[in-house]
Amino acid sequence: MTQSGNKAANPCGESHFSDELRLIPRWAIVGALLAFALVEYYFWIALPRISHHPSRLPAPLHFYLLLSLGALAALSVLIMGYISNDAPRRDMSARLWMICVVVPGGIGVALYFLLRQPILAACPSCGAHIDGEYHYCPQCAYQVTPCCGNCHRSARITDIYCVHCGHELAADHPPARLHAFSN
Ligand SMILES: [Zn+2]
Ligand SMILES: [Zn+2]
Repeated sequence: MTQSGNKAANPCGESHFSDELRLIPRWAIVGALLAFALVEYYFWIALPRISHHPSRLPAPLHFYLLLSLGALAALSVLIMGYISNDAPRRDMSARLWMICVVVPGGIGVALYFLLRQPILAACPSCGAHIDGEYHYCPQCAYQVTPCCGNCHRSARITDIYCVHCGHELAADHPPARLHAFSN
């Protein structure tokens, strides 16, 4: 039952939010701060100088609107940074998707998170790329997830019998790391 933190037994690529945040490169954090500063500079200092029509919005709303615009610009840069590291590990084009982020209304971002492929994991034995659905490494036959020896469908690490065909999983003599009923 100790599945958390065990990357070898979790090739499906579930990861914690803090791990995901670590994917954001430093250039994106600097870029986000710059984008925020630029947007604020433009609307607070540069724009009032060239346009002599003061905003008709109430001051608090005006303030809120401009802060949100800056935050939105910063967020776009952070998401671009995230995608630059997230897309390659899913075998997707980072460049294409980073351009999509600038599509207004967040449509590109929504599409990215809807369409992104599962993370390609590395085989713990030989390092080959393995898909989340694989039971065995295609390069070295290392068993990455528990499965039934009779019908070859997925099994859970705690199952004693196959839920699809009733086969007794212990009879397959799976490696110790793949079963939780060793007693
Ligand atoms: Zn392998
Ligand atoms: Zn079965």
